[in-house]
Amino acid sequence: MIPRIEAPEHRPIWQQLLSQGIRSSDELLALLEIDPNELEFMPAAGDFPLRVPRGFVKRMARGDSHDPLLLQVLPTAAEAAQSPGYHYDPLGEQRAMPVPGLLHKYRGRALLTVTGACAIHCRYCFRRHFPYSDANPATAHMQETLHYLRQHVDIHEIILSGGDPLALSDARLQSLTEQLAGIPQLQTLRIHTRLPVVLPERVDQGLLQWIGRQSLQVVIVIHCNHPNEIDPSVSSALQRLRSAGATLLNQSVLLHGINDAAAILIRLSESLFAAGVLPYYLHLLDKVQGAAHFAVGQDTARDIHAAMQAALPGYLVPRLVQDIPGQPGKTPL
Ligand SMILES: *Cc1c(COP(=O)(O)O)cnc(C)c1O
Ligand code: SF4
Repeated sequence: MIPRIEAPEHRPIWQQLLSQGIRSSDELLALLEIDPNELEFMPAAGDFPLRVPRGFVKRMARGDSHDPLLLQVLPTAAEAAQSPGYHYDPLGEQRAMPVPGLLHKYRGRALLTVTGACAIHCRYCFRRHFPYSDANPATAHMQETLHYLRQHVDIHEIILSGGDPLALSDARLQSLTEQLAGIPQLQTLRIHTRLPVVLPERVDQGLLQWIGRQSLQVVIVIHCNHPNEIDPSVSSALQRLRSAGATLLNQSVLLHGINDAAAILIRLSESLFAAGVLPYYLHLLDKVQGAAHFAVGQDTARDIHAAMQAALPGYLVPRLVQDIPGQPGKTPL
């Protein structure tokens, strides 16, 4: 029999858009009408190549080499700097895995890296050097993972992370949650994803139906750093997720030159709330090698956070935290 190969046009639209993302600095700069010779920082491709969906690029300003969305994705020469105190695995994650791809660092919660794929490559990502191909429980290690979860009855919440778990197809997500449904003590399914923001087309009927089928409480933690990331297509995707029954939270990373001003983060909280999302965490940058130029000092971070507290109702102020290896949870500043 001739194997049936699925024609690309039968793939969901979001998968087509995912594969059509921009992967070259030259193309990105040309679209934005920025002359590479005018940049103060040289684009450079290292071991973590550029990747960004075209819809996200549409939210960047033309001709502005300091656009806060552009700075999150454009590789620069600064990434090659070796910075003391910065590491390849800043959170010691590769030591905290009882099963490859399963992180059980905090009480009651276990995190699965279900894929290495992301729709966007964020230059500050703490997993930029992570060996995803060796750490994929959804394929090679699922039986061991399920066994571990059955043995640890205190784990009530399973966190899907990555990479970006929503980069998996609906069928892969369905198979994953069917297997997890066999773990009786689980109550909450949490999904850490940047896709509803960077590729809102991902929130289609198939995904919404999958969410609707879950018997666990579904919490979706999106990852949005700047109010310019939220356009009407993103707001509408977030509203759909909420209507499907998910609780929506946001985490941001405090990034020098991108969102390190109270006015920006106040606007972000307000825009998130308007879209049905509550702020959860504001993270200090994890000290990953290649991202030192994004670091914001602790004192500045505290000042920004205090200014947010002074201007916003308590429920719109994210917790300012740092991920310190060996701690039983995120550490408040
Ligand atoms: C951040 C994190 C969690 C979740 O922590 P919360 O404080 O519940 O958001 C769980 N496991 C790992 C390994 C983490 O890094
Ligand atoms: S989407 Fe998340 S995991 Fe992927 S590069 Fe960005 S921060 Fe890292």
